[in-house]
Amino acid sequence: MKLNKVLLSALLTLSLNSVTAMSPKVSSPETKEKEIAVTKKAAPKLSIKSSTVEQGAFYEVTITGVKRTPLVWFNQIAFRAFKSADKEYTALIPVENLTKPGSYAILARAGDWEDKVPVTVLDNHKKIQHITLSKGKSGLRASQKELSEIAAAFRLRSEDLYSVNHFIYPSNARKSSPFGVKRSYNNAPVSSYHKGLDFAGAMGSPVFAPGDAKVALVGNEKDGYNVHGNAIVLDHGHALTSIYMHLSKIDVKKGDFVKKGQKIGEVGHTGISTGPHLHWGTYLYGISVDPELFVD
Ligand SMILES: [Zn+2]
Repeated sequence: MKLNKVLLSALLTLSLNSVTAMSPKVSSPETKEKEIAVTKKAAPKLSIKSSTVEQGAFYEVTITGVKRTPLVWFNQIAFRAFKSADKEYTALIPVENLTKPGSYAILARAGDWEDKVPVTVLDNHKKIQHITLSKGKSGLRASQKELSEIAAAFRLRSEDLYSVNHFIYPSNARKSSPFGVKRSYNNAPVSSYHKGLDFAGAMGSPVFAPGDAKVALVGNEKDGYNVHGNAIVLDHGHALTSIYMHLSKIDVKKGDFVKKGQKIGEVGHTGISTGPHLHWGTYLYGISVDPELFVD
């Protein structure tokens, strides 16, 4: 019943808008009927490709029939959707890897219109690594520079879309550590997890762009990238970014456009790394999601 009311008010608003837009001096009952028939066909609609996903994955949301950019809410966070066609917007809504499994809702709002659909988050049953930190182990700390620069790159929400699927792997090497392995330090509750996929690449082996992108960040160990080492962040557009860490060599500059399969650097062990490997992370709206989901 509430939906009917919302729909009615949306229809009224739309027909009022179209009246204003067309600015007819006289509006006969006939033209009014026509206007309502037209707006009925274009009633806004929220749809989700799959309403059940695992932790570390994402919902594929499409909103049609709206003129304004919709906001999409999930788990108390608002995500701005991106225009994909006339009156059509899409958003890939990330489910953070430590989100509690259970029932949630996705709500979309544009102007006076809003709609809500129930969704479910499943446990991805990733292993839990128990790590014991010895007292007084200081180790290297991330510098303020690398933390703030990388956070800024992950905040990008580019309207331009370079690539969001059909990725290739950025390394030909064997996968050594999967995304999402949960970590408990000194038997405390799980507080972090592996935010990427590792490849056991040999020193100097090539790192490729997995899809078309714009280079958003190039960071160097010598400039304070103590933890990430020599690193690249690519902006794929529509709030999808990816990171490449511990590199020995970087072949691109900030602002460059790169093509899928183009070599962007070489595997190394700069930053905090026990040996040569590539760490590849993918982020939606700054939230880490499983890179495997973008690869064909
Ligand atoms: Zn890693």
